[in-house]
Amino acid sequence: MAEETTANSKNQPKYKRIVLKLSGEALGDRTAGDTISGEILQRIALEIKKVHDLGVQICLVVGGGNIFRGKLGAASSQKVDRTTGDFMGMMATMINGLALMDCLEKNGVPVRVQSALHIEEVAEPFILRRAIRHLEKGRVVIFVAGTGNPYFSTDTTAALRASEIGADVIMKATKVDGIYDADPVKNSGAKKFDQITFIDALKNQYAVMDSTAFSLCLDNEMPIIVFDMNESDSIRRAVMGETIGTLVC
Ligand code: UDP
Repeated sequence: MAEETTANSKNQPKYKRIVLKLSGEALGDRTAGDTISGEILQRIALEIKKVHDLGVQICLVVGGGNIFRGKLGAASSQKVDRTTGDFMGMMATMINGLALMDCLEKNGVPVRVQSALHIEEVAEPFILRRAIRHLEKGRVVIFVAGTGNPYFSTDTTAALRASEIGADVIMKATKVDGIYDADPVKNSGAKKFDQITFIDALKNQYAVMDSTAFSLCLDNEMPIIVFDMNESDSIRRAVMGETIGTLVC
């Protein structure tokens, strides 16, 4: 009986409630000139569906960098005031969130979008208990408009929402397949870590997240898995506890 329990638990997801952080750029296809690529959306939706079918409760936090970033707007010739630019960036995350919602729904995944800025016609306001209820009912919840405050990032949003909803882990999808001791593009001998501690990441200044987001995870002991979204099946495998990317804990 004990053996049976062990065997069964091996087939169970290690993480039951996750926050998946997708950057805005992960939705676009620069070569094709698409700010949001239908093909990429569909690929992401299918990866999420696989994990949803396992009964995992999924929150998505989506960035807006494919459309607008407040900091860059202020620095560029556009000269948009930083605070205004940040609100433009938050609105960009809404656009991406709606695109993800649409694609997930077309693949049969129930979704609710909750926004930190009020835009009732298209998204519910962020209400923690309602978000948890959606998760319990098997709905994917997409958090848009970041934290609702300028001078923050969507990585910080992921850290904040993950702590609020009591997620088991944040899965941060990036272009690289984990954290290295040197830049793998410039240094072919760079070594990838399967796992590192928060303190080691901090001491060695490994770029996991921006410092506000990172310290929120550190303070709340929220594990982060940094992984490559382009690697097929990576979310499912990570959720099942396989070594994917780098686990920071
Ligand atoms: N943003 C903000 N407050 C937040 C989250 C985001 O002001 O709480 C703005 C900020 O301008 C940011 C932009 O929204 O640059 C898009 O978010 P982010 O840069 O995190 O997107 P990503 O890099 O993940 O695509």
